[in-house]
Amino acid sequence: MAKNDLILLTLDPSPVLDLMERTLTAAGFGVAVVHDRLGMEKSIQEAIPALMIIGEKFSGEDGFSISREILERFPTLPIILYADKDTNGLARSVLKMGMSGYLCPPLKMSDITDEVQRSLARARKLGDWLRREVKRTTSSLAEKADLSEAEHQKLEAIIANIQDGVIVMDRHRNIILVNRAVSDIFDLDDLDLVGRSVIDAIPNEDLQALLARATNGPLKYHEVNFNDGRVYNAQYTPIPHIGGAITMQDISYLKELDRLKSDFIHTISHDLRSPLTAIMGYTELVERTGPLTHNQQEFLRRLQGSAQHITTLVNDLLDLGRLDAGFDTRRETVHLDNVLKYSLDIFDNQVKKKNIKLSVNVAPNLKALRANPIRIRQMLDNLVGNAIKYTPTDGSVHVSMSMEGEQIIIKVKDTGVGIPPEEQGRVFEKFYRASNAARGAQGSGLGLAIVKSIVDSHQGRVWVESTVGKGSTFIVLLPTQE
Ligand code: ADP
Repeated sequence: MAKNDLILLTLDPSPVLDLMERTLTAAGFGVAVVHDRLGMEKSIQEAIPALMIIGEKFSGEDGFSISREILERFPTLPIILYADKDTNGLARSVLKMGMSGYLCPPLKMSDITDEVQRSLARARKLGDWLRREVKRTTSSLAEKADLSEAEHQKLEAIIANIQDGVIVMDRHRNIILVNRAVSDIFDLDDLDLVGRSVIDAIPNEDLQALLARATNGPLKYHEVNFNDGRVYNAQYTPIPHIGGAITMQDISYLKELDRLKSDFIHTISHDLRSPLTAIMGYTELVERTGPLTHNQQEFLRRLQGSAQHITTLVNDLLDLGRLDAGFDTRRETVHLDNVLKYSLDIFDNQVKKKNIKLSVNVAPNLKALRANPIRIRQMLDNLVGNAIKYTPTDGSVHVSMSMEGEQIIIKVKDTGVGIPPEEQGRVFEKFYRASNAARGAQGSGLGLAIVKSIVDSHQGRVWVESTVGKGSTFIVLLPTQE
C-alpha cells in the first residue's frame, strides 16, 4: 500500500462515513471528505485521489449517475459504491457501470480496508499495463520514424545519383528536392536550392515556359536550349498531394542526329529535283516524236505517274525542310473560309466518285488570320484530302471552323477507318503511316508532318481524336494574334 494514497469519501454525514474515515486513516491512507458536488469536483481535479467511495445517494443525487459522469472523464479512477442494502442486482449494476466494487452493511473495518486495497491493486495493475502499452506504441512509432528517415536517405541517394536532372516541387512551386545534375545543367554556383521558389532559383525562360504550359494546358514537356548547343527535354509530372516534378534528359545527341538527317534529306531532295524535271520533260517529248503503240502509251503513262509521285515526295520533303528551318515567315491577312472553298474544289471529283457526304460549317464571327496563305491552303488540303482518302464509299466528311476567345478552331471530321489509340501520337511524325494505311491508301506519310510544321510555325496546336471503325477528327487551334 502506498502511504500517500488519497481516498476521497463522497458520502453524506453518517456513522458509516465516520467509520470509514477512521478506518482508512488508521490504515495509513490520506482521507478527504466532501459533502457536496462542488467539493467533490474540486477534490478530484486538484487533490487527484487514488480512489473514491461514493454513497448510493449523495447530496440528494443518485450515486450511480455521478459515478457514470466521473468515469466518463476519468476512466481509470477506481470507485467503490456504498449502498445501504445489498439488493439483488446491486453487484451487476456496479460491474456494468465500470466501478471497482461495492460495500454494504454490516461493515467491519477489515471489509473497508480489504475492498479499498483490492481496488487499488487492480487500478495499479491497469495503470502499469497502460504505461507498458503506451511505451510499446511509442517505441514502435520511433522505429517507424527511424525507418522513414532511412527511406528518405535512400531516396535522396537515388535521386542524387540519377544522371537526369530532377526537381521536386510543392504546390507553390517551391523546391523540396533537387539533385546535383540540375546545378550542373544550369551551371548554378548556389547549390542550396531547397526551399526556394523554382522560378527564382533557376531563372531559365524555357523552364518557366514549361511551368506555364503545365499549369494552363495538357502539354507537359518543353525543350530547354542552351547557347552552347545543349538541348534538354524537360518533362513536368504532377505528384498528387505533393506538387510536381520536373525531369530533364539530355537530348543534344538526338537533336544533332535529327539535324544531320534533315540536312541529308534536304540535300538529296534538292539533288533529285533536276533529274526528275528532266524525266518529266522527256516523257512529254516522247509522245511528240511519232505515233506510239497502245502498250508504249500505257508504259509512258505509268512512267509519268511514278515520276509525278516522286516529284510530290521531293517537294514535300523540301517544304518540310524549309518549314523546320523556320523559313516560313510570310504573313498576310487570311480569310479561312475562302481558302477552304478553293481547297474543297480540288476534291470535288473524289468526293463524287466515293459518294461522300461533304458538309461545312463556318461560324459567322470567324476572325481573319495573320498567316501564310499558301501554307494554310496546304494544311487544309492535307487534312481534307486525308479525310476523304481514309473514308470508305458513302461515308461523310464534315469541316467546321469556329472561334474560341482569340483562337480559331478547325475540325476535320470523317467517318473513316479511324486510327488505333497507340498510333494516334505518331501520325504527325515524318514518314509514319499507321497500320490502317496498309489497306491500300496511297501516301508517303509526310502530309501530317507538314500539317504539324505549318501549325507550329503559326504558333498553333494540332491533334487527333479517333475511334477505329468509327472515324477521326483532326483538330487545329490557331491563334488570331501571334
Ligand atoms: P499519308 O501520306 O500516309 O496519308 P499522312 O502524314 O497524311 O500520310 O498521314 C499519316 C498516317 O495517318 C496515314 O498513313 C494514316 O495511317 C493516318 N491518317 C491520316 N489521316 C487519317 C484519317 N483521316 N483517317 C484515318 N487515318 C488517317
